[in-house]
Amino acid sequence: MTIPEIMKKRMTVSFEVFPPKQDKPLEPLMNVLNRLYTLQPDFISCTYGANGTNAGRHMEICKAIRDSGKTVPISHFTCIGSTREDIKKQMEKCLLIGVNHILALRGDIPAGWEGTRGDFSHASELISFLRQEYGNSFVIAMAGAPEKHIESETFAEDIAHLRMKQDSGADFLMTQLCFDTEHFKRWLDNIRKAGVRIPVDVGIMPVLNKNSIIKMCLSLNGCSIPQPLAELISRHYNDSEEDFRKAGIEYTIRQVYEYMSLGIGGLHFFTLNKAEAILDICEGCGIAYRK
Ligand code: FAD
Repeated sequence: MTIPEIMKKRMTVSFEVFPPKQDKPLEPLMNVLNRLYTLQPDFISCTYGANGTNAGRHMEICKAIRDSGKTVPISHFTCIGSTREDIKKQMEKCLLIGVNHILALRGDIPAGWEGTRGDFSHASELISFLRQEYGNSFVIAMAGAPEKHIESETFAEDIAHLRMKQDSGADFLMTQLCFDTEHFKRWLDNIRKAGVRIPVDVGIMPVLNKNSIIKMCLSLNGCSIPQPLAELISRHYNDSEEDFRKAGIEYTIRQVYEYMSLGIGGLHFFTLNKAEAILDICEGCGIAYRK
């Protein structure tokens, strides 16, 4: 069964990891993966550096996940800066190592660039291209931002583009982090009304560190910090990072329950390459137990 087929039957649980820098050893990430496998995830996705800066390392990680036989690897892929031929080379490599699930992205446009410096301007074009070239050889995921992509002026515009990506051939949607579940509910309702019918896999960012949450929301993704999270961040916890982490894990567990009550297709945890907190969260809310 493919991942979206599973999502139509039951909620999936999955994780995102990122490759270490080229000059750093792979072993710590392999240890993290071994810990994550104990939760029997439906898949593990691996991020891809903008413009393919870490393509080699990325492929090594996807292959290691595939070779483990423990779960399905999903390769993130950004088309920015790539020609059709570059994309085909990368896709052939994926197929060669047995990776047939792709999160098809445009990628962020680096400062100072004009356009995407590649053959495609938007992820929808990449998705159409993959379908034309490879038929159903790949299961294709697309990205979606519940608080809208920062480049979009309006929600209506952004949601129309999600519909275009689905209609170009995407099989399921993976979301950006969103701490405001009330907002998420309205977005889910609106995308459904706009005809986006594919399963939605919700990105969960564990609340573990005050500064990184503030940075991720306000400097990187344009996401809001709802009042209960703002309150959590404002408390002092006797200046103890460990106490904040405990409170953050409890907060994340409550958020997981809220998402589960919406009948979503899956929960996708951004692990930040740290296994222990993810094990605590998944066990804490009873969605997975280490074997
Ligand atoms: P698009 O879908 O192309 O959208 C980008 C903007 O263009 C949006 O505002 C959209 O509304 C608009 N748009 C889309 N289609 C059209 C159209 N036809 N006409 C006009 N406007 C249009 N980045 C990485 O570099 N590496 C990663 O591994 C990575 N992983 C991610 C994982 C997830 C789950 C998510 C949600 C994001 C990830 N990103 C990653 C970030 C992503 O690359 C950025 O959000 C990027 O800015 C946009 O990519 P996209 O695929 O959403 O682009």
